Amino acid sequence: MAQKPVLISGAGLASLLLARSLLRSNIPFQVFERDATLSFRGQGYRLRLSNEGLNAIESVLDPAAFQKFYDRCGKTAGAGFAHFDAVTGELLEQTRTVGEMLGSRDGKVVGIARGDMRALFMEGCEEFVHFNKHVKGYELTDDGVRAIFADGTKSDEGSLLVGGEGIKSRVAKQVSGGKLKVYDTGARGIHGQAPTTAFKSLGEGVFRLVDDTNPDGRVTIITNVRPNDMDDPNVEFGWTMAGVPGTIKAPNDDYSIVGEVAAKIAKSLTQKWDPRFKPLFDNMNEGQAAFWKITCSTPSGVPEWPNEPRVTVIGDAAHGMTPAGGIGANTAVQDSALLGRLLREAGGNQPGVTEEYEKGMRVYASEAVKYSYGMATKQFQVTIDEMSEVS
Ligand SMILES: Cc1cc2nc3c(=O)[nH]c(=O)nc-3n(C[C@H](O)[C@H](O)[C@H](O)COP(=O)(O)OP(=O)(O)OC[C@H]3O[C@@H](n4cnc5c(N)ncnc54)[C@H](O)[C@@H]3O)c2cc1C
Repeated sequence: MAQKPVLISGAGLASLLLARSLLRSNIPFQVFERDATLSFRGQGYRLRLSNEGLNAIESVLDPAAFQKFYDRCGKTAGAGFAHFDAVTGELLEQTRTVGEMLGSRDGKVVGIARGDMRALFMEGCEEFVHFNKHVKGYELTDDGVRAIFADGTKSDEGSLLVGGEGIKSRVAKQVSGGKLKVYDTGARGIHGQAPTTAFKSLGEGVFRLVDDTNPDGRVTIITNVRPNDMDDPNVEFGWTMAGVPGTIKAPNDDYSIVGEVAAKIAKSLTQKWDPRFKPLFDNMNEGQAAFWKITCSTPSGVPEWPNEPRVTVIGDAAHGMTPAGGIGANTAVQDSALLGRLLREAGGNQPGVTEEYEKGMRVYASEAVKYSYGMATKQFQVTIDEMSEVS
């Protein structure tokens, strides 16, 4: 009898890398993604890859595929941030402190756009990825599991359901009996991008521009100017703005708004900034501007819940974290590598696989969430009361 597929909810970074692992192991799988296409919504920011993240990706992809992936990553010199006062333009410090070390392989800052990363991970898996499939939950069958979609239909029976659909994962809520929680820190951000020409005066490197003059609180942006692309006017670089609670406010508190409205707010928050930095906002591609909320799962670590052998969670669904520290994706890909390896070794989902995965994941992911939260308390001045109401 044919092996039942592994069902994967969401086609994000963690899910697609797991899919790639299963493809290589000849284990059948089906991925269900809510969006209509991979590029349905702005794919936003650039992800920085740590040694742990790169090692995990390398352990999943075959050598040629990893080389292709690594070649697509930008490599920027300088292992730390250059901090500037955004208003005066003064160089504050060149960070070399622990926690701010950005470099990984070859001492370079290795980064890739989230959209490119998804597209590369999906190569070869296309026929098994189903779009417009909004997973609302699951039901266990006699010896398997089915995903339930928002339109009331159900998937084929699978041997395992892996919830990889990000911080709002319904699979995570169901399998953990509500123990997996996500907190809104109150801090907000805007993502924007502009042609490389707008970044000319910065030169190569990774930059943090800090504005402490805003009466509502600190606003910062982070951006990365990559050497290979910096002279190509057809390329756009991104920046990520983050504001402590109360500084960035979307109309009607609607943070799903994209485009001109978000661009205008970014421009107004930076109107007094040094002329050297102004082109990043004056020349921005307004259509790509987007708000984002800074959320975090339980800061003390990934909670325990009774293991369900046929359902588990990966990536942000299990451990969403703030962008402080830049380790959310790096942790997510470790899940894909670990679960993929355990499934390969067992020849598919067998009793004990998800339990062993969750045991291992809790160790490194709890460390990562704690670390990211600790950084966020300083960078974004947020505090989460774990006893408080959760979303
Ligand atoms: C501004 C910013 C900068 C960041 N920078 C870094 C960085 O430098 N380094 C780093 O390591 N991390 C970084 N992160 C974190 C990183 O982006 C996430 O940790 C990572 O994307 C998580 O991957 P994932 O696969 O778990 O979820 P996602 O990539 O969020 O994918 C989830 C997928 O599930 C789909 N989906 C959602 N709901 C459903 C549903 N009900 N049914 C079906 N599909 C669904 C979504 O459309 C999406 O495709 C950053 C985050 C932000 C916001």
